[in-house]
Amino acid sequence: MKRIGVIGGGQLAWMMGDAANKLEVELIVQTPSIQDPAVAIAHDTVLAAIDDADATKVLAAKSDVITFENEFVDLEALSLLAKQGVCFRPRLEALAPLLDKYHQRCYLRDLGLPVPQFFAVEQQEDLAAKIADLGFPLVLKSRRHGYDGQGTFIIRDLATLQEKLELNQKNPTLFLIEEFVPFERELAVIAARAVDGEVVIYPVVETQQEQQVCRRVIAPADITPEQVATAEAIAYKLLNSLQFVGVFGIELFLTTDGKILVNEIAPRTHNSGHFSLDACATSQFEQHLRAVCGKPLGNPALQCTTAVMVNLLGYETSVSDYQSKRQQLAAIPQAHVHWYGKTESRPGRKLGHVTVLLENHNPAMTSEIVHTIESIWYFS
Ligand code: ADP
Repeated sequence: MKRIGVIGGGQLAWMMGDAANKLEVELIVQTPSIQDPAVAIAHDTVLAAIDDADATKVLAAKSDVITFENEFVDLEALSLLAKQGVCFRPRLEALAPLLDKYHQRCYLRDLGLPVPQFFAVEQQEDLAAKIADLGFPLVLKSRRHGYDGQGTFIIRDLATLQEKLELNQKNPTLFLIEEFVPFERELAVIAARAVDGEVVIYPVVETQQEQQVCRRVIAPADITPEQVATAEAIAYKLLNSLQFVGVFGIELFLTTDGKILVNEIAPRTHNSGHFSLDACATSQFEQHLRAVCGKPLGNPALQCTTAVMVNLLGYETSVSDYQSKRQQLAAIPQAHVHWYGKTESRPGRKLGHVTVLLENHNPAMTSEIVHTIESIWYFS
């Protein structure tokens, strides 16, 4: 497997570039705009929407295997290509239960994994009776195409809920309602599964979200060995039951009484694993390509004591490349700055990230580093 077709050309595909060179494979990217980050590292590009299956047929003709940096594809149309012999890794059957958040929750529950209470919002039903069980606040989520908090709403009263649902009648979207989990912290774990079924798991990390968007990741999370074992067991169960091939991200809630619930799972490389580029022997991006090419998996262990990853999110609409801020960030000892080369900045857009490697475990120092990075990025 030398030519890897990647559906999606954002930063997740861009970060596969170095790994592709190392493994001596070519990336051919399907993405809608020539300005998308991964076009710069791709051997070849098919310029088309992610869900354009005709374009994926063209991609397939140029590739030995097709994988995903973005799962919002047209599975039904792709399954015709699979029937004609196109090789998808992960296989399409592993994506099918995950693309709709309601179906995903059902899949997790049916596997016996711990999830928040949830139900689908159906037409004309008596919502009041169902939400009486959950109480407020509750969480309303679009069932499809949600990412980075888009489509996730924390709702504090019935009037707001009704308003959101009524607004929606003009532009119908399917929704899911779930219990608000007053989590103590959020955790995540990245795992990878090879063609032969081998599974490797990265250290469990703590993730910190603001307005539902990931701001920081601390690896490893300061949790008990039992909690680590629970998160790892969830990863094994999921990857094996889906017969997944490739890297997989699992977002978790740690509740105030120490229990772990699964929030969301992503069938691809994930923001919570970006620290692995600088902090692990094998990054999540190399690991994904290894799995997809049928190579043995690499070592996911941390090569330092602690790694702190901070996302550089857009805070204005601009075309700046923020050279001076990037230089200041790069001057922080043990800092690695990754800049995705996006031509436009918009509030909340993921423009890059910084990872700092630390030789000791010191929460005060970790907070100080986060503060330094965010002061340079947002306030200098
Ligand atoms: P997305 O797919 O947009 O990332 P998520 O379902 O992961 O959406 O939600 C984004 C963030 O919203 C989570 O990381 C968490 O901070 C918050 N959130 C989501 N669901 C819940 C919930 N049931 N209870 C409390 N907070 C939640």
